[in-house]
Amino acid sequence: MKCPRCQIEDLIEVQAMNALSRSDNLTYICSPCGEDEAFLDFIKIGHVTESWPISRIRENGHFDLRNIMQMRKLVEEFADEV
Ligand SMILES: [Zn+2]
Repeated sequence: MKCPRCQIEDLIEVQAMNALSRSDNLTYICSPCGEDEAFLDFIKIGHVTESWPISRIRENGHFDLRNIMQMRKLVEEFADEV
């Protein structure tokens, strides 16, 4: 079964060995996606800004964080205006 978040990585058959998505605490996702969610949380973007499967994946399978840094800038600008 493919990871529902990226549609690239295969999930490990033993469910508990995958990462639990922070979006609902119910859905298992692949480990790179788990790390990506943790990073988004860390920079306070969170997980609500993207729909699945996420489109931010480069050909080498890594998450493209350049867009994320732009998103973070937008979030900060928005926060300044409120
Ligand atoms: Zn994934």
